[in-house]
Amino acid sequence: MLVLVINCGSSSVKYDLINTEDQTGLCRGLVERIGAVTAIVKHEPTGQKKVKETKTIQNHTEALKEILGFLLSPDSQIVKSASDIKAVGHRVVHGSDMFKDSVLIDDDVKEAIEQAIDLAPLHNPPNLKGIEAAMEALPDVPHVAVFDTAFHHSLPAKAYLYGIPNRLYRRYKIRKYGFHGTSHYYVSRQYYKLILKDSKDTKVISCHLGNGASIAAIEGGQSVDTTMGFTPLSGLVMGTRSGDLDPSILFYLVEKEELPLSDLHALLNRHSGLIGLSGYAADMRDLIAEAEKGDRRCQQAIDVFTYKIKQYIGSYMATMNGCDAILFTAGIGENSALIRKKAVENMEYLGIKLDDDRNNDVQPGEMTRISADDSKVDVYVVPTNEELVIAIDAAKIAQASAQSPWI
Ligand code: AMP
Repeated sequence: MLVLVINCGSSSVKYDLINTEDQTGLCRGLVERIGAVTAIVKHEPTGQKKVKETKTIQNHTEALKEILGFLLSPDSQIVKSASDIKAVGHRVVHGSDMFKDSVLIDDDVKEAIEQAIDLAPLHNPPNLKGIEAAMEALPDVPHVAVFDTAFHHSLPAKAYLYGIPNRLYRRYKIRKYGFHGTSHYYVSRQYYKLILKDSKDTKVISCHLGNGASIAAIEGGQSVDTTMGFTPLSGLVMGTRSGDLDPSILFYLVEKEELPLSDLHALLNRHSGLIGLSGYAADMRDLIAEAEKGDRRCQQAIDVFTYKIKQYIGSYMATMNGCDAILFTAGIGENSALIRKKAVENMEYLGIKLDDDRNNDVQPGEMTRISADDSKVDVYVVPTNEELVIAIDAAKIAQASAQSPWI
């Protein structure tokens, strides 16, 4: 089945056209700087020349028109007719505690996503805009919402409750939700599929280390704890996000610098993490390059980043009473041997031992074991594919809805 996967940000639409039968991508692309004087449009059809243009694109509806126009154009010949696209899968960041699975989008679902805007003010509004725009552009196909939070629905209360008055949880749903669910789900399933054949009784720690970063503890195939919380701000140090913080720092800053709330928000989301620590860059490649030349602050940023990962791996080994495998994924996890090494070095006591040659020899896009033969815990690099998870879920739900009017 041909599925269009859509991932909308406030001024961008990312898309992938995927054939779920052979799990191949036909085309992917990005429209960014929507609403600016000139938007940047990129299309990457598989096996054909990439296209990069600048155009005026006022809103998400126009972006969807641009994308469909390219996919259907006689020049690109990617899709003959819009009716060949049988489903649209939408990445939705926050499903609150309402969605533990992907769902067919109807008015009730749209309303529920809207209700969760309070919980994800940066992410859910553009997700919703994308849904509206895509439903307008492709009104006759099923649209499916796939939530970043859904995989963590299995967290037990002891993991998702914060130590604040319970009334605040009941009244405002303040709890840990967790994110990057499709990625943690995908890499753990790849590990079960290719290595173990079964998820029963296994204990896996999945480390999604990209610009955003999180770790999940996965027991028997289910997420039992994760580092991101009420929002994607907590847990690990990230490209521009602080990760865990003593909350008193906020009161202190408000007092000392008289910062308004909006500045605090920007400080922790956009000016902290690797860029804040290094004062140089959020991009791990740049930090590694500068640290190698002797830049102390870039080195410190790398040290803090990897120290946090190590701490959470240890913590989740305690949570699950052991661990069969640690999986590294996303931009940094898949590509940086240095960061993987630092994240698990000196953990022999916990049964983790890397093989340096294997770690240094990982080929892009390949699932690779990087632990030593005598390591008690297996360590793998597993390339993630969130778009494929979204496409497969959308195809399944679209098929089921064609068979039953009740889905
Ligand atoms: P993502 O958000 O998954 O696209 O990951 C982006 C992050 O991956 C950025 O910090 C990049 O610097 C980092 N990254 C990509 N390739 C490498 C590499 N070869 N070495 C270190 N970091 C990398």
